Amino acid sequence: MAANGNFYITTTIPYVNAEPHLGHALELVQADVLARHRRLRGQPVRFLTGTDDNALKNVTAARAAGQAVRAFVDANAARFRGLREPLGLSFDDFISTSADPRHWSGVERLWRQCAGRGDFYLRNYRGLYCPGCEQFYAPAELDCGVCAEHRVAPEPVTEQNWFFRLSRYTGDLLDVLQSGRVRVEPATRRNEVLAFVRAGLADFSVSRPAARAGGWGIPVPGDPGQIIYVWWDALANYITALGYGGGEPPYRDWWVSSGERVHVIGKGVTRFHAVYWLALLLSAGQPLPSAIWVHEYLSAGGAKLSKSAGNSVSPCDVVGRFGTDAVRWWLLRDVARHGDTDFTAGRLVRRANSDLANGVGNLQQRTLTLVHRYRQGRLAGPASAGPLGAELAAAHQGLPELIDEALARFDFRAATGAICSAVQAGNRLVEAQRPWELARREEQGDDAAAARLDGLLGVLAETCRALATELQPFIPGGASVLSSQFRTHRGRIAPPAPVFARLKIPE
Ligand SMILES: [Zn+2]
Repeated sequence: MAANGNFYITTTIPYVNAEPHLGHALELVQADVLARHRRLRGQPVRFLTGTDDNALKNVTAARAAGQAVRAFVDANAARFRGLREPLGLSFDDFISTSADPRHWSGVERLWRQCAGRGDFYLRNYRGLYCPGCEQFYAPAELDCGVCAEHRVAPEPVTEQNWFFRLSRYTGDLLDVLQSGRVRVEPATRRNEVLAFVRAGLADFSVSRPAARAGGWGIPVPGDPGQIIYVWWDALANYITALGYGGGEPPYRDWWVSSGERVHVIGKGVTRFHAVYWLALLLSAGQPLPSAIWVHEYLSAGGAKLSKSAGNSVSPCDVVGRFGTDAVRWWLLRDVARHGDTDFTAGRLVRRANSDLANGVGNLQQRTLTLVHRYRQGRLAGPASAGPLGAELAAAHQGLPELIDEALARFDFRAATGAICSAVQAGNRLVEAQRPWELARREEQGDDAAAARLDGLLGVLAETCRALATELQPFIPGGASVLSSQFRTHRGRIAPPAPVFARLKIPE
């Protein structure tokens, strides 16, 4: 089937054993920018997020909190869903895997298809299990005897499980990863995955005894004594949410025929997505994602953000203190492509002040002020602002392409950096052209100066409009206010009013 122009984008679905932290916000905001950017360019987009409800660790956390699993899971899932407004997210769909009827039927269908390929077998198994990761580890994969993610020694577990014949897909996986049929970015992550596959793939366990799972989760079709492994269940959400279980049109439109299918994930789950998920799809005879973007982690005080590490930073609190635009901007502008980034309120505030309040906000204010002071809020028709003006026009006209290229590489820093460069070009132009002097000469009857002033104000206004448009995916709230200020009402643009507050640097 020929590919359509659709763009399908997903985030991973977090466990709901705890409240969201700022690391979740990073992934959601990155995916949101990609979704909004494609919509801005006129492409049909579907953006999915949700929660991974069926994990054993949710059951354990509910018990520890003295709550019924259903009530506990629903309450935390609602907290993730509730990030929509504070973070300014634009997801089209939200799947809660334990409560969504689309999920159950889709997981069963995927299981049956893999079973039909003869890819499952029963085996008695002894292994080292990290409940934090919901994963078995070989001793060689541990870091001094502990799980590298959770810094705890995994528990020895002996049980009978269904196994998936991952080893069968080694050659196919090497092929799709090497050929770039599935792009894994950045390249360092792709190379890690390739090394893992080349080292030889072992079949992996894809079910748990129902008793150990506390009866929570989706039973194996035809074997209700076993529950489907939560990772197998969770990965399927990317297609179950499209109605895969019932063979519905959204699955055809957004997965089978979609021009692009992009997963945004954290580095800790690369193997699950770039190896296991691809193998499941190959087994089931379904199309693969087109790209997997792997982000790094946020830390606070040098340690990974997590409830268990005791340094969880609540995205709602941070937004409450500094506003949605400042938080989104910091996540996009400052979080590194390689290596973890340490969050501090001071860094966030300094970045927001320099780029938003003193950067684009200042250019906008200056432009509005000049247009009102010298032209009573009216912009003249097209006129020349000299060679510097032409340079600025070129800078903002080239901006969309620079952003497109950066986001095609998932480089959020380069994309926001391009915006900052255009802002700096605008501020330089004002300083070089000295509009206050042009206005004085105009008063003395200098027509050439008057024309130069018209040209300057025109190109500045054009730049501000272009910036407001291009900022939409990154800071939709601030961008829409910026846009509204340059709309003409009875031939005049709005009087100057600050869009971004200068934030106080925290102690
Ligand atoms: Zn672990």
